[in-house]
Amino acid sequence: MNVRRRPISGIAVAAVTALGLGTLSACSSDSAEASGGDGGGKLDVVASFYPMQYLAEQIGGDHVNVTTLTEPGQEPHDLELSTKQTAELGEADAVLYLKSLQPAVDEAVTQSDVKTKIDAATLTELENHGDVEHDHGGEEEHAESGEEESTLDPHVWLDPVRYAEIAEGVATALEKADPDNAADYKKNADALTTKLDGLDTAYENGLKNTDTKVFFTNHAAFGYLAERYGLTQEAITGLDPESEPSPARIRELQQEAKADGVTTVFYETLVSDKTAKTLAEDANLKTDVLDPLEGITDKSKGEDYIEVMQSNLEALKTALGAK
Ligand code: ZN
Repeated sequence: MNVRRRPISGIAVAAVTALGLGTLSACSSDSAEASGGDGGGKLDVVASFYPMQYLAEQIGGDHVNVTTLTEPGQEPHDLELSTKQTAELGEADAVLYLKSLQPAVDEAVTQSDVKTKIDAATLTELENHGDVEHDHGGEEEHAESGEEESTLDPHVWLDPVRYAEIAEGVATALEKADPDNAADYKKNADALTTKLDGLDTAYENGLKNTDTKVFFTNHAAFGYLAERYGLTQEAITGLDPESEPSPARIRELQQEAKADGVTTVFYETLVSDKTAKTLAEDANLKTDVLDPLEGITDKSKGEDYIEVMQSNLEALKTALGAK
């Protein structure tokens, strides 16, 4: 029992063994669950960006080591991977990503031999949210802007119901990858989906009666959320936060603000708020943060997914005039 896989010196082995025995007698109640009997190795999970990281950490708990490819504060859409990151990814036990959000990650995953590849996009249903500009490529494609490889909206994590579906799929995949700890993955996923259910109820109730159903955002990240709670998102840019709106689009939004009683232009923490603020000034609207949760930083209004989503709900209630 308690055999370590990592090579350690004889003295260290003796010390670990002694410690192990001591621990066993001291707290025998949880010893079976803690060591699992097949060594102390954790599952190395590489997550593509924050919403995937959060799932891996919450569901994997003590049994996983999570590394995230997108740095906190880095805008994830146009992520490029370093050679080191690509190598790390190749050595992982599992990778959790969302196909079509980050082309560089998609490609690295395809080329790697990672045993457990979990594509969150396959664990729920992605939709096309219509008349937004689609451009998920790098800078080069931006310039061309004629290329349309995918019309599916990847921002699925902003709908708590779909995010819970993904959580369940992730748990199933981890159970398969690491059957010894299957019960824990299931238990952790249940705890998370209970929290997500609570969030869904709060949104449902909080946004039921509002003065307006229309909100303006910087980039079109909130399509799934809007659909879930009967709202209409009007994005200044398309699905990609870095693209620039045309003067015609700005005029259109100004007219819509008047027609639909829009009070607020939302911006986000990871990209420039310049366009949102200019639009707000010209149309005499307020500004506030609505966080697409593409990364957590010191500026985020909350420590994790759940807290930031609660802040988002409060911001939406104020902007929409909830009763
Ligand atoms: Zn986005």
